[in-house]
Amino acid sequence: MAYIDLSYMKFVYNSIDLPLEEVYDYIVVGGGTAGCPIAATLSANYSVLLLEKGSVPSAYPSVLRQDGVISTLTLEDDGKTPAERFTSEDGVANVRGRVLGGSSMINIGIEWDMDLVSKAYQWVENTVVSPPNVSRWQSVVKEGLLEAGVRPDNGYNLNHIPGSKVTGTLFDNQGRRHGAVELLNLGNPKNLRVAVHATVERIIFSSNAPRRSHQAFIRGKGEVILSAGAIGSTQLLLLSGVGPESYLSSIKIPVVHPEPYIGQFMRDNPRNYITILPPFQLDASTPQIAGITSDFYIETFSGLPFSTPPFSVFPDPSFSTKINSTFRQIAYKVPGPLSYGSLRLQSSYDVKVGPNVRFNYFANPLDLARCVSATRKIGDLLSTNSLKPFKAQDLPGIDGFNFFGPPLPMNLTDTASLETFCRDTVATFWHYHGGCLVGKVVDGDLRVKGINALRVVDGSTFKFSPGTNPQATLMMLGRYIGVKMLKERLVCKACYSCNIIQHFNRDDLYPK
Ligand SMILES: Cc1cc2nc3c(=O)[nH]c(=O)nc-3n(C[C@H](O)[C@H](O)[C@H](O)COP(=O)(O)OP(=O)(O)OC[C@H]3O[C@@H](n4cnc5c(N)ncnc54)[C@H](O)[C@@H]3O)c2cc1C
Repeated sequence: MAYIDLSYMKFVYNSIDLPLEEVYDYIVVGGGTAGCPIAATLSANYSVLLLEKGSVPSAYPSVLRQDGVISTLTLEDDGKTPAERFTSEDGVANVRGRVLGGSSMINIGIEWDMDLVSKAYQWVENTVVSPPNVSRWQSVVKEGLLEAGVRPDNGYNLNHIPGSKVTGTLFDNQGRRHGAVELLNLGNPKNLRVAVHATVERIIFSSNAPRRSHQAFIRGKGEVILSAGAIGSTQLLLLSGVGPESYLSSIKIPVVHPEPYIGQFMRDNPRNYITILPPFQLDASTPQIAGITSDFYIETFSGLPFSTPPFSVFPDPSFSTKINSTFRQIAYKVPGPLSYGSLRLQSSYDVKVGPNVRFNYFANPLDLARCVSATRKIGDLLSTNSLKPFKAQDLPGIDGFNFFGPPLPMNLTDTASLETFCRDTVATFWHYHGGCLVGKVVDGDLRVKGINALRVVDGSTFKFSPGTNPQATLMMLGRYIGVKMLKERLVCKACYSCNIIQHFNRDDLYPK
């Protein structure tokens, strides 16, 4: 990719500049990782309004640069900044994207999980993926992983397969980010309208509802698509009266459609990590390699300069001092996970008040056992010849490293101390998902069960976080469902009964 293609800017508007009332074929709520590709795809044949509560990425230049990753995550959250902070009830600091392009614009940019839906992946990959210029540190860790038995060497590979590999990345060789926002460039400019600073408050299921300052409607066989992310879509459904009946009634939200599983099965992959300070300066890098086994995935990043403690990157309060640019973090993730929690509203009327989320990290013993097994593998990795030069002192095994923050337990045979390490150092990989699970809340085509013309297309539908990292699958999903919807409309053209059903099920959406 030679440059960042900003052609989408010609159909991006500030929400206050849009007419007070408009009608579209499709309204997509949330211009994120899945929302951008689905909006672009549907615009091929139909009018589409994409509503994003955040700003355009260029409003925050650090968003568009690889060396801006940490500074974006550490920007003080003023209610508008691209990384919206929240802390789960587990006490783990976290962030979610609040910018056109969603979390794909603030993330670390790693992983491309090519799969059966290869055409949709290809569409995405051609626009935003690059092979990385692998840094020295990343190569060292990959060699170390191979020495430690995470084999085979899968070279540069976009598949999620066991072994060690170099991954694709959103950052090109000039350090520029290419996120989901660029998929909008593939839309039809005549049909696609994107509104930023457009916070959707709720979906109204009746054309007789009280008027709002801005309102948008869908027509005919159109649909509303929620792509506001695991937390945003789940919150919006509850605020709109779709959710567990007794819960909604208890907080005085009129029940439009009872659905017991909304807000249930919220999951987040635990991130555990060690950070070392080698005795010399080395290049900075975002993750470019991955070690994959059935029990855990290992990644690393390094030396990103910062002057304040990076929120949610190093949640440990002891990281309050300024450190130089030499740190190396080796992080590992439990796949799945099996442990889950739930989401509950903090405010029953104000969408701007984030919900309470609990993930119950390691509640399931298998998640903990996998973390223990990964921690042992980190011990093997640190004991390899590849990692030796990074020791502060020439000592055997895992001894001799200068740990920054919690050190790896010295006795790797003591399962209890490894379990304590897992629990005590748990952070987030930011791959939280669930809340509107497929099979429970939405059907296989991601339609909300029992409601016509409403779908949820984002990470809230996932039972497991897919791939080594989820964003490729989310972009693919937006494209895939969009193409399927276009095909459905072609089939439906001749179908009289279908027209009647749609006629009696118009959804109205009232963005502020
Ligand atoms: C810091 C960080 C690092 C990560 N690193 C990686 C990585 O390296 N690789 C990887 O594959 N994945 C990574 N992830 C995870 C991945 O980015 C997310 O899982 C994925 O982007 C989520 O996609 P989504 O479409 O479900 O939601 P999002 O991309 O978050 O999109 C949701 C959008 O909806 C908008 N929205 C929410 N509520 C409303 C509302 N009421 N009205 C209007 N708009 C609304 C939000 O502003 C946002 O733009 C990371 C995530 C984070 C936060």
